[in-house]
Formats: sequence, structure tokens, C-alpha cells
Amino acid sequence: MEMEKLVSLCRRRGFLFQSSEIYGGLNGFWDYGPLGVELKRNVKSAWWHDMISGHDELTQQPGAPSTYEMVGIDSAIIMHPHVWKCSGHYDLFHDMMVDCRQTNKRYRFDQVRGRWAEAKGQKVFVSTVAENEQQEIERQAQKLFKIRAKNADQISWDGAITTLDQLDDLSQVLGPDASEPGTLTEPREFNLMFKTIVGAMGTDEDAAFLRPETAQGIFVNFKNVLDSTRVRVPFGVGQIGKSFRNEITPRNFTFRSREFEQMEIEFFCHPETSRDWYEFWRDRRMKWYTDLGLASDRLRLRDHDQEELSHYSTGTADIEYAFPFLPEGEFGELEGIAHRGDFDLRSHMEGKLDPTSCPLEVETTEDGKPLYKGSGRDLTYRDDISGERFTPHVIEPSSGADRANLAFLCEAFTEDEVPDDKGKMQTRTLMRFHPRIAPIKAAVLPLVKKNGMPEVAKEIYQALKKQFSVFYDEKGAVGRRYRRQDEAGTPFCITVDGQSLDDQTVTVRDRDSLEQSRVKINDIVEEIADRISSYSSRE
Ligand code: ATP
Repeated sequence: MEMEKLVSLCRRRGFLFQSSEIYGGLNGFWDYGPLGVELKRNVKSAWWHDMISGHDELTQQPGAPSTYEMVGIDSAIIMHPHVWKCSGHYDLFHDMMVDCRQTNKRYRFDQVRGRWAEAKGQKVFVSTVAENEQQEIERQAQKLFKIRAKNADQISWDGAITTLDQLDDLSQVLGPDASEPGTLTEPREFNLMFKTIVGAMGTDEDAAFLRPETAQGIFVNFKNVLDSTRVRVPFGVGQIGKSFRNEITPRNFTFRSREFEQMEIEFFCHPETSRDWYEFWRDRRMKWYTDLGLASDRLRLRDHDQEELSHYSTGTADIEYAFPFLPEGEFGELEGIAHRGDFDLRSHMEGKLDPTSCPLEVETTEDGKPLYKGSGRDLTYRDDISGERFTPHVIEPSSGADRANLAFLCEAFTEDEVPDDKGKMQTRTLMRFHPRIAPIKAAVLPLVKKNGMPEVAKEIYQALKKQFSVFYDEKGAVGRRYRRQDEAGTPFCITVDGQSLDDQTVTVRDRDSLEQSRVKINDIVEEIADRISSYSSRE
């Protein structure tokens, strides 16, 4: 699938708009339009229902070591600045960046890739951040050496395309948008947290941060949740909310945005069973995506190698999707599931822990004081049956609502060939959303705007509207109205025709198979409910 087609459909049909578009947009920020907001709400509601409110705590789930409880919270976006000091984000949440002195552009160090090129007695590392890197590097090299495309074989290439960190120095690097080599600065750290000021004084002491993840709001409320409910370990706390990261190079549509939404769970369990719980959550989260329609050949669960793991983690896996904007064979992260041990609760108790030392120690200043003091609160747990006291281990399934949304959009985009009214084959664009997440569940269409058909159709619309998001449309040829619903991803179209007035039946058209069947008007609400709930089993 070509990404441009999806991007254009998203804009044309109101799934996604560039933020502040009338002022030229703001890089890394996006607005959801009328269809997009329904899709995203449905994705978040499905998550909230399946993980939190619909969770059956009395029945042991397949693969789970025991039964467990789930609750939710909604914490503030701006938290006490100390939260980010103890969590490590203040000191460690950064990317390395390089600046170009010639163009004043800034790049993420690990995203600049290039290759050594030699011509006319000069050897230069030609770099790019473009997705079609091979072509772009060749184009840049030809421009630099002033060699025409037809004489491109005058350039000799050394080694494969690599990242800048493989080089000893950057003096011979041609920056992605530069016209001469040697204009990139040495890499520097760039903290990704957005800074803001709380209160009217505006001094540096009032500096606060927009949260870069929702997780910390859960950790700092661990005791509150325990004390205000009757949950017992093992239990999970879920949260959906906005997070902000000042990404150096936001790109790939909504995949890397500066403002985005996360759906996170912190699952607290006994250290001895934590490995089993980690495996349970990995599988459970993977199944959630496939149940909602992501095809298994484009989705994968990738365990991190030992070197990729943080010291405190004994296991991390990413759920990844083969987004169409990525090079063939590459996958992008939808969700990370991490075994975080007791790192977070201990940090908020004792102060900033050293994530590089194992077992974890409190990081100290030169005179032996904790670098940042913790809350000093007791965040351990006492099992009231066994009497055992321990710091729970945490399993964290952390997913992005916007990335999930984007994956569902990419997966749904389909083109097929269908005959038009005159039997001529036409390309049809349809969004094959699972009905649970489809923005509109059914459209009600009178075949023509006369002979009592609109009246019957409006009654059906009103009956359905009590339960589902439905759409009424009487404008234009019915074939065109079907196409519009196909593009919106509406799974069912209900048409009132001449026969409806005689025998009280309507046709129900299926978006994917195009099959039409007649259903009694009195049964229509039940019929649509059945079709939505049986959708996954028919595939
Ligand atoms: P990446 O390596 O792609 O930057 P990450 O490993 O930093 O992601 P986490 O900190 O694990 O991401 O965040 C959990 C989830 O939040 C990610 O799996 C992703 O779905 C979402 N997420 C993180 N950063 C962004 C972003 N800039 N834009 C949209 N979603 C994001």
C-alpha cells in the first residue's frame, strides 16, 4: 500500500488533519477529525474495557499464574518536578542530536545514515535522514562531486550504509542538507521533556515538565490505590492519557509525534511469580491486537537482546507492526512490555537509583547524599494473609493510542475491483476496520428521497442510534453513498427500497463481501448487534 494514498484519504475523509493547518501546521502535532476521533475513542474504549473495566477478576485467565484485579486512574499531566528526578527522566531521558552549522538544521544522531563515497580525489561520508536513503545518498554525492547522473559510475563507494556513531570523527561528513562536508557539530544530549513554568513568578525554581509518559502517575499513586480500594497483589493499574516528548525529528505521520496518547498498565506482583506474569502479559497484549484485526504476518513480538535490556529489567519485548512507510522488512514499535523489577517503586521510596549498577544502588553525590531524595514514603506491600512484606515487582505493558490507531488505519486500507452500475470494473477504496473500532457501525440509506422511504429509514436510524453510532444519508445516487461509507469503514449499509414498504424488510449490505441480504425491519437492531459480535469468528 502506498502511504500517500492513506494520508490523503485520512485528510479527505476527516480522520486526521495537520495541527494548526491554516497557519502552515506545526511539526509533530496532529488533530483527529470527525471520523478519526471516533476511531481513536473506540480503540481506547476497547483497551479500557478489555484490560480494566471488563476484566473478570474471578476467573483465572488462560496463561495467568492466578486470578488478578485491575483498576484505573487518571493522573495529572504536570506532576511534582521531583517525580522526574527520581524516575531518571530528568537526567537520562534524552536523545543525542547533531546540528548543521551551515543549514541550522538539527538531526537525531542515530537517524543520520550514510556511506563513504570517493571521486575526484576526495573521500566524503555522504549522509541522509530520508527514507529512500540509497537514492538520496547517490543524489547528494553527485551534487557534491558535480558529476552528472549518467556518469555516476565515476563515484566509488566504500562499505555499506551505516550510522554516524560508527565514525571516529565527523569532519568528513556531508550533512543531510548541506552542500559541503564538515558542517555537523559533535553529538550533544537533548532532553526530550517539555519544560513549562507553574505559577506567576516564573523563576527556574517553578519549572515543571509535561509528562513524557503516563506510567509515573501510577507509581506515585501506588499507595493511594492500595489504601482506597481493597485490591491485593497481584493487581494492575491502568491509565490512558496524553504524553509529550520534544522529539528531535517527528515523522512518519502520527508514528512519532510530540504530543500523543498512551495506554499504560503497571501490574504489581510478587517477585517470585513476576517472570510468569511477564510472559502472560506479553501474550495477552499480542492477542489484543490480533483480535482487533491486525494481521499476524505484519505484527510481531520481538524479545529484546540482553544488550538492549536495562539493568533493572529481566525481560522486555516489543510488539511491532510492519508499517508501510518503513523500508521492506522493517517493523515499528506499537507497544513495549517490560519487566521492571522493583526499580520504580524503590526509586520513589529511596531516591534516584543507579540504573547502571546491578543490584541497584541509590545514586549519591560526592558527599554521599542521595542525588535526589525519594519521597521517603513506604511503598512496600504487606500481604495480609501470609504477613510477608515486600516491594512488588512491576510488569509494564505500555502502548501508544496513536500508533495503534495508525496501525489499524494502515491495516484497514484496501483497494479492490468491483463492477459499477453499468458493469464496468472500478477500483473501490475501503477501510476494513473491525466493527468494534469502526467509527460508524451502520449507515441507513433510503434508496430514493420519495415514496415514503425516507420516513421508514429515519425510524430505523432512530432505533439503531440508541445503541450504535449510525449515519443517515439520503443525498445522491445510492452507489456513491455506498462508496463513501466504504471509505469511512462502515461495516454495514441498510437500504430502504420499494419492497420495504410492502413487506417490512430492508437490505443489509456487507462492506467486505458486498453481499446483500434482506432482514425484517423489526429485527434490524438485533441483526446489527449479532453481526458486530460475530465479525471476528467469520474470518
Ligand atoms: P521509540 O523507541 O519509538 O521512541 P519508546 O521505546 O521510547 O519508542 P516507550 O517509552 O516505550 O517508547 O513508550 C511506549 C509507547 O508509547 C510506544 O510503544 C509508542 O506506542 C508510544 N510512543 C512513544 N513515543 C511516541 C511518539 N513520539 N509518538 C507517538 N507514540 C509514541
